Amino acid sequence: MTKALITGIAGQDGAYLSRLLLDKGYEVVGIVRSGRLGAPMHRLHGLGVAGDVRIVDVDLTDSSGLSRLLERERPDEVYNLAGQSVVRSSWQDPVQATKDTAQAAVTLLEALRLSWPSARFFQASSSEMFGAAEQDRRDESTPFHPRSPYAVAKLFAHLTAVNYRDTLGLHASCGILFNHESPFRGTDFVLGKIADGVARIKLGKAKTLRLGNLDSRRDWGHARDYASAMHLMLQQTRPDDYVIATGRTATVRDACRIAFAHAGLAMDDHVVVDPALLRPGEGRSIEADASKARRDLGWEPRTGLEDLIAEMVEADLERIGRQRIGPQRIDR
Ligand code: NAP
Repeated sequence: MTKALITGIAGQDGAYLSRLLLDKGYEVVGIVRSGRLGAPMHRLHGLGVAGDVRIVDVDLTDSSGLSRLLERERPDEVYNLAGQSVVRSSWQDPVQATKDTAQAAVTLLEALRLSWPSARFFQASSSEMFGAAEQDRRDESTPFHPRSPYAVAKLFAHLTAVNYRDTLGLHASCGILFNHESPFRGTDFVLGKIADGVARIKLGKAKTLRLGNLDSRRDWGHARDYASAMHLMLQQTRPDDYVIATGRTATVRDACRIAFAHAGLAMDDHVVVDPALLRPGEGRSIEADASKARRDLGWEPRTGLEDLIAEMVEADLERIGRQRIGPQRIDR
């Protein structure tokens, strides 16, 4: 039986990847943040996999603890998904963001090199690494220009994985992931905020949805499809890096229209543009080019934006409908 070790297993991508791998007959072992064995497992429960994965508690910056784990578990594939994933929060605690993402990645790669170098390794890199790059169309050859502690830490982890591949021969691949969402996305992310807001308005628990720049453009895919890309990368004989994106950009306004229309509402009656939520430089139109992944991995996103948003709104209608009172969302 093929065995996979997933860091950050209780997160959005960890849950979808677990579902995919279990469906393929894998044994799945997952790492959660140290000391948080009782951490919320609602995403794993939500996808019906909580009872089928084994959770271990190891500090990702503890090299000997990781080495012992790798020697004991001997995984065929290691997926490094752990990390603090909200860009804005990385400004609130850049040191912790760097530990969770950069220090953890080099510690894990070094433990792999020393203790279990035959494992195939996946690093969840981010399109945020491109940051302020001049190019509007971004692919694997676009120079990186990170603009947040999150992006700098991700770039360190990315380059370390590339270095361990090119210099030391590890089978390490990186997915340069553009935004991907699901019903598990919280309101820190704009699609999660829109779905939550639309559901509250539909259920009579709110009247307005306050947003920043409606013309801001993103490339949004479904997390389930991105988990599939991660798995495909580790099935290749030769490790490599791939941009993973749908190739379709849409504005926040487009996303609102789709979400409100799905709930039978008119967005113009409810959306309020709040100047306090405007962020500089958000109007730029960036295109993601994932043609290498399509060509070399045979990867295609299966879920379009309309279906993704409909799934998120439906999940929030169900979740919020179950709550008796309280205007604030609870954790997903
Ligand atoms: P997520 O839902 O926030 O999941 C990340 C998980 O990592 C969380 O469960 C978090 O646990 C855990 N974690 C954080 N620090 C840890 C540590 N030191 N040790 C162990 N676990 C730790 O994010 P996601 O959407 O699944 O994303 C998965 C990965 O892809 C992340 O690295 C993210 O940066 C990257 N990525 C995501 C996107 C996207 O659009 N989703 C795009 C580009 C890259 P806590 O809840 O305890 O913090």
